[in-house]
Amino acid sequence: MADLSLVLLGAPGAGKGTQAKPLAKDRGLLYVSTGGVLRAAAGRGSASGRAARRYMDAGELVPDDLVYSLVLETLEQASGAEGVLFDGFPRTITQAEALDETLRRLARRPPRAVLMDVPDEVLVARLSGRRGCVDRGHEYHVLYRPPRRPDTCDVDGSALVRRSDDEPQVTRRRLTVYHEQTEPLIDHYAQRHRLLRIAGEDDPEEVRRRI
Ligand code: AMP
Repeated sequence: MADLSLVLLGAPGAGKGTQAKPLAKDRGLLYVSTGGVLRAAAGRGSASGRAARRYMDAGELVPDDLVYSLVLETLEQASGAEGVLFDGFPRTITQAEALDETLRRLARRPPRAVLMDVPDEVLVARLSGRRGCVDRGHEYHVLYRPPRRPDTCDVDGSALVRRSDDEPQVTRRRLTVYHEQTEPLIDHYAQRHRLLRIAGEDDPEEVRRRI
């Protein structure tokens, strides 16, 4: 595997998922979304998935042991990829240190981080309008990317729903958790000269060009 570990940093709604998927595809990187992996586990109803869901629905972070086991499982599938693109991981200083340490142990280069900077008021508007299809998670937004028919997926015709943690009261908690627990990662990567900071407010094509 080529030696790139890229961390996309940003608040909920900053556009990490929107940017990460095409970026990973273009560059042949293994895409690791901890939120996506946790939602899939919750959907399967496994014991760890059910435990994770309680935290996610409250807008809190899922405990580290659950996150690590999922991330490590996914990383084992990484051989053959050009590197790894993390979306939503790490989210705390402890997780960032664990990632640094794991890469060191594997004799791999330290991660690089890209911060997508978006003001809180824009994040709230983005999150409240987000919709996804129940079947395969195709993504829409009531204002910025509306489906052709209301509440119906253009691709497979299934119903569009709001993620339970995009409800306004949970969204506010997720933003507070971001500011308190995840924002310190900006300094963690800046001090190591491994941070690229970009404005993430503009349309996705423009943000993509910056990255
Ligand atoms: P996301 O899809 O990245 O917005 O993540 C959705 C939810 O999954 C978060 O609000 C957390 O509850 C949980 N989650 C995702 N990634 C992590 C992580 N690295 N550490 C702890 N919890 C996480």
